[in-house]
Amino acid sequence: MSMQDDGRIGHFIDGRVVNIADRSYQDVFNPATGEVSRKVLLGNTTDVKNAVAVAKAAAPAWADTSPLRRARVLFKFKELIEKHHDDLAAAITREHGKVFSDAKGEVTRGLEVIEFACGAPQLLKTAYTDHVGGGIDNWNLRQPLGVTVGITPFNFPFMVPMWMAPMALATGNTFILKPSERDPSPSLMVAELLQQAGLPDGVFNVLQGDKQVVDGLLAHPDVRAVSFVGSTPIAEHIYTTGAARKGPYPLRVQALGGAKNHMVVMPDANLEQAVDALMGAAYGSAGERCMAISVAVAVGSIADALVDTLQKRVRSLKVGNGMDQQSEMGPVVSAAHQARIEGYIVDGVRAGAKLLVDGRGFRVVGHEKGFFVGGTLFDHVTPEMRIYQEEIFGPVLCVVRVPDLGAAIDLINEHEFANGVALFTADGNTAREFSRRIEVGMVGINVPLPVPMAWHSFGGWKRSMFGDLHAYGEEGVRFYTRYKSIMQRWSSSIGKGAEFSMPVNK
Ligand code: NAD
Repeated sequence: MSMQDDGRIGHFIDGRVVNIADRSYQDVFNPATGEVSRKVLLGNTTDVKNAVAVAKAAAPAWADTSPLRRARVLFKFKELIEKHHDDLAAAITREHGKVFSDAKGEVTRGLEVIEFACGAPQLLKTAYTDHVGGGIDNWNLRQPLGVTVGITPFNFPFMVPMWMAPMALATGNTFILKPSERDPSPSLMVAELLQQAGLPDGVFNVLQGDKQVVDGLLAHPDVRAVSFVGSTPIAEHIYTTGAARKGPYPLRVQALGGAKNHMVVMPDANLEQAVDALMGAAYGSAGERCMAISVAVAVGSIADALVDTLQKRVRSLKVGNGMDQQSEMGPVVSAAHQARIEGYIVDGVRAGAKLLVDGRGFRVVGHEKGFFVGGTLFDHVTPEMRIYQEEIFGPVLCVVRVPDLGAAIDLINEHEFANGVALFTADGNTAREFSRRIEVGMVGINVPLPVPMAWHSFGGWKRSMFGDLHAYGEEGVRFYTRYKSIMQRWSSSIGKGAEFSMPVNK
């Protein structure tokens, strides 16, 4: 890639990288070494005004570009992402810490949404009713909103922006990405590749920064929609701010929040498969996935065998630098997050949960300053404990024991979060009952991480998501467009005289 690297990560506005002298830059760390790798610009309200003005100016021409032409840009972008797959994955590993193979998987899942968005002409095709009566036809349009914004979390610095930007661009909007300040490099790579793909300047912009930039974007009257993914308190703040917006155009918001995902293991489940699934889903990406399984619900007689097998596997987890091919799990994102996770482990012990494997104080030889937490396993966790109620977002798995399926369903339905859930069983009817009765947005049957494909839609229920329309897929098309109905007739079919009553079908 051609981007010059002077260690600074700036904005990308109107087709150019913007760095500003005498402004504050924040350290970006390599979590595996604990060292500062780059510095990111923190935007202010002037930067917000500039970016929104640029995106607003670019909006009419892009909205007027035919869906087919917009799709061609996305096709080219897709090819470029494929070409730079490894570069992107390496940038993710460097700033996030996840293992390189997992970072490559993240790029693949993001690519899938780009592929879906390449179908823009088909996605924007709408319904037409010929001759509703009296020579009138009725059809509808899905029109772009204008300036749209995406605010994204640290844990998927490529994939989550791709849940939003390709959908917004395909449907004819301009877009401003506000990536996480903890791993911002992939955002500029995306901007540069979109430009190479032929996207006109100003259609896709990146604003680096933190709360100040987010608040500026939320308050700006020309911003029409905000797609947010991050923790629940911020998601709720963004949703309520959007709902309170006065003026002709309400701020449309979809705000995806935190999670506490359960995996129920029935007595008839294949134990080995269930343990494999739990290992990947609880400890993959060091538990820093919104779909990570953080609670194993052991039903009835399977509990002892499940815990015994898990314990051995957690002890043998290979933890290390994400660029090392041997590593199964990398570091967590920051020293502060490492301390927070270790605080939860202390809390769990105090609350009386049985700590079977303790990941505190984990050191990786040669990476002594890295932000590592070892795989951690608690047994006999109960619903009133903080380690059960709150999202830890680290490699900590809690086992809760319940007597039967009904108790498992009640437990999960009482939790405030409802992002993903999984059930491992050999029985079709158990699976069917569970899928229908569980109050969770995304369900996996013998699938631990049921992240929907790009042509379905992603989103949780309850306090895991605020707003009605889920991310990407058909719901994403609806989120980024406004519905308009058109009725039309031509002079020769218009009867004489005014009509004073509602027309009845003729
Ligand atoms: P975060 O909420 O701290 O940050 C998300 C974004 O909000 C970032 O861009 C950040 O700069 C911005 N932000 C942070 N504090 C803010 C404030 N006070 N006001 C306005 N903006 C602010 O989340 P994170 O730590 O980056 O990501 C982890 C969280 O994201 C977890 O809770 C995880 O479950 C959640 N997540 C959810 C999904 C989902 O699909 N539901 C997907 C990925 C991550």
